[in-house]
Amino acid sequence: MAKFNDSLQHFLFEDMINQPMPIRGNIVHLNHTFRQVLKHQNLPQVLKQALGDLMTASVLLSSTLKMQGVMVLQLQSKGALKLLVVECRSDLKLRATAKWDVDWFEAQATQLQNISFAELLEQGQFVITLDPTEGEPYQGIVPIEGNTIAEMLQNYMMRSQQIDTSLWLHCDGENAAGMLLQKLPNVAEYDPSLEDFDAWNRVNHLANTLTNQELQNLAPASLLTRLFAEEDIRLFEAKPTQFYCSCSKTKVGGMLRMLGVDEVNSILTEQGHIDVNCDFCNKHYAFDAVDATALFASDPVVNLSKSTH
Ligand SMILES: [Zn+2]
Repeated sequence: MAKFNDSLQHFLFEDMINQPMPIRGNIVHLNHTFRQVLKHQNLPQVLKQALGDLMTASVLLSSTLKMQGVMVLQLQSKGALKLLVVECRSDLKLRATAKWDVDWFEAQATQLQNISFAELLEQGQFVITLDPTEGEPYQGIVPIEGNTIAEMLQNYMMRSQQIDTSLWLHCDGENAAGMLLQKLPNVAEYDPSLEDFDAWNRVNHLANTLTNQELQNLAPASLLTRLFAEEDIRLFEAKPTQFYCSCSKTKVGGMLRMLGVDEVNSILTEQGHIDVNCDFCNKHYAFDAVDATALFASDPVVNLSKSTH
């Protein structure tokens, strides 16, 4: 297995460090991390690729934030693809899942190559949630604009965050890889007269010559040399990515508590037990009448009032 599998590497253009708008980037490869996600669900090929792209994008974007915590990217729609959701933690632990119209995909199986990804996302919206370890959570909801996941996220970054971001994503259904370039102002006061406007266009032009094979197969150092032979690039140490699901019986119990004691009792009366499968890792949680009694008994009034604010 190549050394750069399942890892993220930052880089920056050394010559531009002191410019008002330095350019930096990341390269990520998701291999085992991605296949662990796929193990738990039988996705159609086109959705495997979309989920791989969204996972890759989530690592690339979340690692440009200073935030410690969790970033969640969701594509929601009323079309054949109902939901793609990826959760990426700042320590690069990831989980992801999808919901889709199974009957529609089966009926269209032979036609799928004629249908664009955007057509699966009727009335689609993109939702980004940032849940920092410290501080207030943030959620942004915008209509989906673009034909690919890379375009959708580039548009979001430009329109909602006013940050020039370019993304190259590729997923063959088993491995996913991506590169990000981003132009960010230095902390010092921004003086547009000092900006080298050509630099952004130049590096994007060069990066656009990247092939999917190179993105998947070249180690970041070779890839950057291949693209930017003339530029002085500083490449930082690789950080590992990993599949990780944070579900637990306690969290599932919390969900059942939110359903309320009446609803839970009515399911128990009907079925004798409650079965919950985690959407992300397919782990099975079973609650019987004894578990349910414990669930509600362990919820004294003082905690209830605390959790409602
Ligand atoms: Zn789970």
